[in-house]
Amino acid sequence: MLDVRGVSKEFRGQTALHPLDLSFPPERTVAVIGPSGCGKSTLLRVLIGLVTPDRGEVRIGGEPLTRESARRLRHRMGYVIQEGGLFPHLTARDNATLLARHLGWTEARAAERLAALRELTRLPEDALGRFPAELSGGQRQRVSLMRALMLDPEVLLLDEPMGALDPMIRADLQADLKAIFAELGKTVVLVTHDLGEAAYLAHEILLLREGRVVQRGSFDELTRAPADPFVTRFIQAQRWPLEGA
Ligand code: ADP
Ligand code: MG
Repeated sequence: MLDVRGVSKEFRGQTALHPLDLSFPPERTVAVIGPSGCGKSTLLRVLIGLVTPDRGEVRIGGEPLTRESARRLRHRMGYVIQEGGLFPHLTARDNATLLARHLGWTEARAAERLAALRELTRLPEDALGRFPAELSGGQRQRVSLMRALMLDPEVLLLDEPMGALDPMIRADLQADLKAIFAELGKTVVLVTHDLGEAAYLAHEILLLREGRVVQRGSFDELTRAPADPFVTRFIQAQRWPLEGA
């Protein structure tokens, strides 16, 4: 579904991504994980066309992502970021439906889609009329997810969507996201720095270090057959809250 071929990126002479070849299949969730600054967000921004790679190409369903095709192809991808990225002056309803209305959807069609997504994301109905500042962090992320899913994209890209939430709200949203990913069967790329979250939500984990893939595989594969001592160090450095409790 989503293919990366020979993609690399530098910022002011510093390499953020070394040449990468990656493929993200349909109906699979891949968690991108790694230390801060290893290139996770840059990779996602390249996938959605917000950052142009220095070399290489991204393809969505076989179609190259270019300056000309980016706007159209972006409609086939939903994107959620840590802070939600909602417009503060628009209600939850208007944030979620903005793009659809811009594309000429009728009020009825947008309202019908909104109702289905509200149910899917389990956002309380009365939250729809509120502004982002009047929502809890978890509700804001549910609205961001509704907005990302509005056009029923084939690909869903999430950059630390739960990074700013406190633990119980986070656990609730993790459980809901797991059900949503399973129900929708989309190509999902989820950035997280939490290995527990990656193992819980994703079929595969892609561990990055300094812009390179260290290992890609299931959580089990990473723990049982680490490709590099860094994999073991990374796993051991994570805090496992229930260990020894
Ligand atoms: P992560 O999301 O894994 O924490 P990023 O992809 O945000 O990492 O950043 C990777 C590297 O690229 C970092 O060294 C960061 O400082 C640098 N970087 C990212 N975006 C920019 C930018 N727009 N301009 C300059 N440097 C950037
Ligand atoms: Mg980041």
